[in-house]
Amino acid sequence: MTERFRMLIGGRAVDAASGRTFESENPYTGQPWAEVPDGGPEDVDAAVAAARAALDGEWGSLTGFARAALMRRLGDLIGENAERLARLEVNDSGKLYREMIGQLTGLGSWYHYYAGLAATLEGRQIPAPNPNFLVYTRREPVGVVAAITPWNSPLLLMTWKLAPGLAAGCTFVVKPSEHAPASTLGFAELFEQAGFPAGVLNVVTGLSRETGAALAGHPGVDKVAFTGSTATGRAVAHAAAENLNAVTLELGGKSPQIVFPDADLAAAANGLIAGVFAATGQTCMAGSRLIVHESVHDELVRLVAERAATIKLGDPNDPDTEMGPVANAPQYEKVLGYLRTAQDEGATVAHGGAASDVGGYFVQPTVLSVKPSDTVFREEVFGPVLSAVTFSTEEEALKLANDTPYGLAGAVWTKDVHRAHRVAAKVRAGTVWINAYRVVAPSVPFGGMGQSGVGRENGVEAVLAYTENKSVWVELTGGTRDPFVIG
Ligand code: NAD
Repeated sequence: MTERFRMLIGGRAVDAASGRTFESENPYTGQPWAEVPDGGPEDVDAAVAAARAALDGEWGSLTGFARAALMRRLGDLIGENAERLARLEVNDSGKLYREMIGQLTGLGSWYHYYAGLAATLEGRQIPAPNPNFLVYTRREPVGVVAAITPWNSPLLLMTWKLAPGLAAGCTFVVKPSEHAPASTLGFAELFEQAGFPAGVLNVVTGLSRETGAALAGHPGVDKVAFTGSTATGRAVAHAAAENLNAVTLELGGKSPQIVFPDADLAAAANGLIAGVFAATGQTCMAGSRLIVHESVHDELVRLVAERAATIKLGDPNDPDTEMGPVANAPQYEKVLGYLRTAQDEGATVAHGGAASDVGGYFVQPTVLSVKPSDTVFREEVFGPVLSAVTFSTEEEALKLANDTPYGLAGAVWTKDVHRAHRVAAKVRAGTVWINAYRVVAPSVPFGGMGQSGVGRENGVEAVLAYTENKSVWVELTGGTRDPFVIG
């Protein structure tokens, strides 16, 4: 029996204009579990028009305090409904319930944090050289935002856009991935319950990638916020450029974890497990490149491989399961392809290296020792595959770490406080953890350098990315000026 979902456009639960639907597959059971509307460009048009109407209507006239009150209510509702939302994510993408319940229980804190900023957004009064003028600035919402999200953490990655955007007073059209569309539709039901005016959030689902393309290039959109692959991000940036729209892009990564010989190797092994096997390695911030000092390579790889061998694969809903399946068929084939290439290129397998005998879309947690030129060390696998190379000097470690077009995240493992900060400063990435991995918070900026993206999500500055700065000049004398002279 499949669960039926509808899109949200202009405050109403609707089917696609065409009447078509498509099914979302549960990657653990391999069975369809949800039926969702197969929206297309017509539905995108309707959603953008609804978002525009909301901006020009009641929502646009609310104060930051009023927006904050609605956002706090939404944050509370997410907490109260965390279990349902977590189950939707598990069914859609095979992520572990034990991870998703934590993620969803904490998700409301993004709305609470940005509610505080909604009520404190301020302009400035700026001194002008001409004393006859008072000049002040206003922070105004950038307008209608197109938010396009991937399948790996749909609600978290949408929230990184929606929470700061609502604080700024924007309205949204969200297009979740065709591989995991249902949780965003479930979220939209809660959004309505929170009491937002109609049209502030609109959600369009669609099987064809054309639906996302129609939204990214829509002339009625003022800003595009995207998370997904670098290739699609480039297409989205091109489409947005046609409308001269601002973009925020959160793209792929190939993040290094540098381990020095004085590091606590047990802690580093644990951080490596968290970095590349949690969420089956399907995270943009996966710490998939291990750069380890030659004197501790064998011991560290042994520690990680031993733990990888005991990782419990199975039903994502079982609280004892540690790693679920890969989220969908194309991704499963892609990961296996990288494993074959790694072996062809001469990788040494410390653990895994192939599909798991659990069956379905399960892949073995894999630990490889490779050469820096190997494909698996250079390209984003987006699966549970760790590739290790060795270094002998700090300079060489940094060269290896930065020899990538990506720059999303990274880690430094050492007990030497001087080296820790020195190396963290030189890793070219938007986030560096010291003796830790995979920690994020609403208040801490996250985003990538190079091909990992444009702009930052989270933190105080993220709200500003959803505003336009307006300068207002007020003439104070009431006198008449020479019309042919500027200033
Ligand atoms: P994707 O980048 O292909 O798609 C992301 C979103 O963009 C989806 O909602 C998709 O429908 C939409 N989209 C597709 N084409 C579009 C277009 N031309 N214009 C506008 N929107 C468009 O990512 P995916 O299909 O979810 O996964 C593909 C690969 O991307 C994965 O194999 C993985 O390597 C990588 N990925 C990276 C991240 C990340 O956070 N860095 C997240 C998910 C996937």
